[in-house]
Amino acid sequence: MELYKENQLKIYNSLSKSKELFEPVVAGRVGMYVCGPTVYSNVHLGNIRTFMSFDMVFRYLLHLGYKVRYVRNITDAGHLENDADEGEDRIAKKARLEEIEPMEVVQRYTVDFHTVAAKYNFLPPSIEPTATGHIVEQIEMVKKIMDKGFAYEVNGSVYFDVLKYNEENNYGILSGRTIEDAIHNTRVLDGQSDKKNPQDFALWKKADDRHIMRWPSPWSDGFPGWHLECSVMSSKYLGDTFDIHGGGMDLKFPHHECEIAQSHTCHDTAPVNYWMHANMLLLNGQKMAKSTGNYILPEEILTGENAILPKAFNAGVVRFFIMQAHYRSILDFSNEALLASEKGYNKLMEAFKHLSTVIASDKTSGFDVQAWRQKCYDAMNDDFNTPILIAHLFEAVKFINGLRDQKVSISAEDLKTLKLTLDGFIFDILGLSNEDTQQDSNKIEGVVELLIKLRKEARDNKDWALSDKIRDELLALGIQLKDGREGTTFTIN
Ligand SMILES: [Zn+2]
Repeated sequence: MELYKENQLKIYNSLSKSKELFEPVVAGRVGMYVCGPTVYSNVHLGNIRTFMSFDMVFRYLLHLGYKVRYVRNITDAGHLENDADEGEDRIAKKARLEEIEPMEVVQRYTVDFHTVAAKYNFLPPSIEPTATGHIVEQIEMVKKIMDKGFAYEVNGSVYFDVLKYNEENNYGILSGRTIEDAIHNTRVLDGQSDKKNPQDFALWKKADDRHIMRWPSPWSDGFPGWHLECSVMSSKYLGDTFDIHGGGMDLKFPHHECEIAQSHTCHDTAPVNYWMHANMLLLNGQKMAKSTGNYILPEEILTGENAILPKAFNAGVVRFFIMQAHYRSILDFSNEALLASEKGYNKLMEAFKHLSTVIASDKTSGFDVQAWRQKCYDAMNDDFNTPILIAHLFEAVKFINGLRDQKVSISAEDLKTLKLTLDGFIFDILGLSNEDTQQDSNKIEGVVELLIKLRKEARDNKDWALSDKIRDELLALGIQLKDGREGTTFTIN
């Protein structure tokens, strides 16, 4: 039986501001959309925290046995400076400054993002669509919104009519902002705007002469507004109403508010059942941001190449540090906290490693493994509460240390459950990579290769007894040799 049938997952929904029982649109399947990076520069550690939070959510849903379609986009056009409707496109600006093609900027930082994601052990999303790959669909959505009377064209640009939408809907439903707040937010930036009302936002912008990234449309040669791509790509791949939409807290307004207005207008239904927002990572008490220079790059932690770091840390430690905070809490980055996480991470890994040497006893366990296992699931079912989960994992660490000191015992059945449960939570769900284990398996492979070589020498010398002995004894250890035309290969069970 799939685990989701026996687990009551609750998710904090930013829309209702409460924890709700998770019920997907289609039983057993989950559609999840997360706003991905704008690829105009390297992602910083704060961005990584957001994507890691949703990687953990993705991992837990998979662990529960859901078939998950996880869509995380790449914004490669349309995102202007200050998240506004005026100003230069971030990617085009970078291309101009570096005298390269915008698509070179996009390629460089997409590769960088994927490299970082792999280093921090993110599972790849099911679909990773790009804004430039969906221009046709974006133009279609603008037409549809215009046909419904909720958008208007001025001088080749098209704007969404927020006041009209707000007559029968609630613009601000997610962020709690009022129309007046929205005006206040945009007035300074939009002095020269063509908009009817300052709170309206761009669906399509006419490109001026310096704007290189442009496409033909019924209104002008131009480019889509930033919010449009997410409405288009989420509905294209997940349907008009889908289960989970995630992103950083700072995207609630205006980005997600605008997404709701566009999608609702287009499809006559609320687009998302559960809105999830991950909180910020602070450095020196301030939000990490490229624009202020207050940031650390994820690669710098791995090499120690940043003056504020005392040394290099491995990616598992950084991941453990981030998972020690709830995804909705603000997390403060500090060397002390990171060093403490390193200690905790090492303790956890050492205990897990020790478990493989433990011999079960006939006596009953001094630890209620079943009840402990349930507590681990309860923590995750309570809006993905990873800090509480980690506290439970350390109860197991304490018990394993007792086993090591021969103060307690464990039955064979409990030992099996303990190993399986720890393995699932540490590696599959928290996504901590066990680099030591990887090194160990590299060593084992080296040893098997050596034995295969010695066996070949024995066969060349017609020493069949020795050759068979090597094969049989490896088999007894669960390592099966297969002789083929290309030589001998092996599988480890
Ligand atoms: Zn988005």
